Amino acid sequence: MDKAKRGRYFDLDALNGYEFEEFVARLLRMMGYEDVQVTQRTGDKGKDIIAYSNHGKPFKYKVIVECKHTKSVGRPVIQKLQGALLHELGDDPYIKGIIVTSGKFTKEAIEYTEEINKKHGSWMEIELIDGRKLYELCKKHGIKIVSGNIQVVSDITFKHLPKEEVKKRTIGELETIKGIEKTTYQVKTWKSYYPYYCVRYSVHSQVCTKVGCIYEVNVDDELLFVDGVTGKVLDNLPHGFFKFSPENLTKIPEDEKNLIRPFNFSVDELEQKVIDSIINKYTKEVVYRGKNNVEYRKVCSPKKKDILIKESCPIYLPQYTNSIKIQETNYNQSIVANERDIFKISDDLAFCKVCGETIPIGERYVCPVCGKVLGPCHVIFDYLDGTPVCPDHAVPRKLYLQTIYFASKENLEKFNNMWATMSEWERITTDTTLMKVLIVIGFVMLLYLIKILGGLF
Ligand SMILES: [Zn+2]
Ligand SMILES: [Zn+2]
Repeated sequence: MDKAKRGRYFDLDALNGYEFEEFVARLLRMMGYEDVQVTQRTGDKGKDIIAYSNHGKPFKYKVIVECKHTKSVGRPVIQKLQGALLHELGDDPYIKGIIVTSGKFTKEAIEYTEEINKKHGSWMEIELIDGRKLYELCKKHGIKIVSGNIQVVSDITFKHLPKEEVKKRTIGELETIKGIEKTTYQVKTWKSYYPYYCVRYSVHSQVCTKVGCIYEVNVDDELLFVDGVTGKVLDNLPHGFFKFSPENLTKIPEDEKNLIRPFNFSVDELEQKVIDSIINKYTKEVVYRGKNNVEYRKVCSPKKKDILIKESCPIYLPQYTNSIKIQETNYNQSIVANERDIFKISDDLAFCKVCGETIPIGERYVCPVCGKVLGPCHVIFDYLDGTPVCPDHAVPRKLYLQTIYFASKENLEKFNNMWATMSEWERITTDTTLMKVLIVIGFVMLLYLIKILGGLF
């Protein structure tokens, strides 16, 4: 792609030298370089960024990066970096240098670099990244620059179940709700590619006092997804639901690009949210005893420097939205899917419509009149046929003491006809509340009788 075409959403010219360094540092982090630090700019010693990597080697090595936000980079820049590498090598077995430019390398610069790599490649290598390669890397890692801001772009998603399958499973689960067969319902399913900023991170943090360490966090390679629309962290996703191995990833097909929802936040904003949420996640109140045997409370959290962002990338999660209408009541479900399973991020059907309590699958009922989903907390059963019904639509009928309910006027009428033909004894035994009271009275009288008889003999 030529520069004019690239320019529209890869506007490197909008960055100043310092911003260019920050931008390169960000890209390196996304590429998996660790501990990427932009160095303090005290004179140009031929190193703008220091990072670490273990890519291609069985050990971790230092990486020195020089950024040149210029049209052309010649041989002297390579020589200067070579000097810096020699200086930084120390006792290490290997060191790598990278020169990143928004422009091009001269022929001499390229030849000189090839020479170095050929001669010293076992312990020192230099990689050249020019404007074109920079563009390719940005595309691969999903970032773009729009009027000086680094924005997120991506067309990567996880392989996932098709819409028909998700809809089928939705209906399958809907049919486990007791009473659903007496209702009419509709299910509409939409697919979207929903933006998330995914981060792989480690936290190693300790808080120590005079009496020892009272707080410690050691986690490695945790994944975190930040919702690119709302900025909220997706924290209920089952561990390992999405796996970042190449065989699980795919590109969003051209004819589904219209289903992509755009990111609302820049990379900077998203990274800030990531850091905040990681700190929040591992913040704990610790109670400990001091040397003076006094109990102390201390809120401990990891510091920003304890958090290592190992890799970050924007990604679109295959997300389905179900709009379900049962009788007159509407429900929404948000579902993410991988190749085998679906997971509900949110599900209106999981809550009792009367009180809002969470109801597990298998204990859900639905009112055939209004379509409200009910938990065991609020379901009422028809006296005759056991149809579940909501408190608003249950038709009550008082016996002697007990009140019984019906799901319909017809069932009430049916019962009234039966009641009319019953003997008095049948009616009394039908009222279980009355029967209980009678049994208690009978029992008390029996005890009383025994007492009287006991007194006689
Ligand atoms: Zn309830
Ligand atoms: Zn109802």
